[in-house]
Amino acid sequence: MPLNTAYIALGSNLGDRLGQMQTALDRLAEASIEVHVVSPVYENRAMGMGEAEPFLNAVAGVRTSLQPLALLELCLEVESGLGRVRSAHWAPRTVDLDILDYAELELKTTRLHLPHQRIEERDFVLYPLRAIAPDLRIRGQRVADLAARLPMDALTRHAFSLHLPNV
Ligand code: ADP
Ligand code: MG
Repeated sequence: MPLNTAYIALGSNLGDRLGQMQTALDRLAEASIEVHVVSPVYENRAMGMGEAEPFLNAVAGVRTSLQPLALLELCLEVESGLGRVRSAHWAPRTVDLDILDYAELELKTTRLHLPHQRIEERDFVLYPLRAIAPDLRIRGQRVADLAARLPMDALTRHAFSLHLPNV
């Protein structure tokens, strides 16, 4: 089965944020996703969420034989396994897993939009993504160029890191 490269954004602003992000990576690895690189972790004020905890955000580079929709299904399963309840769109979440890019494929269905629709406006996605994939192209533009254009707003490097799953 051919392996495709994808980038998955991880975010958490509820509970043991870093621990849940690590568990999400480990679950992906257990499901035969090869997690080959993880970005540093950034802390971000929770936009539009009032008094919620700040988000931790990171991006993982993976290789997988799963097709895009199957990868999305797996991400949603891992989210619910970690106790994510979908209430309000902006509600606090134990873990959010978004597929940022899948083999530079462009796809727009009701369930899946690739590359992820809001990459260009999100420093908390572009900064960690640049750390691991500066030359990746999103809608024709290099990630490094997109990040350089976006000021780092309420984002800081977090003191702790994720590690590659030991599988
Ligand atoms: P958000 O991540 O925007 O805060 P959710 O995590 O609740 O919102 O996702 C809502 C839906 O977005 C998912 O059920 C999924 O079908 C859809 N979606 C569309 N494109 C993507 C993508 N690239 N990665 C993850 N989910 C996506
Ligand atoms: Mg999501």
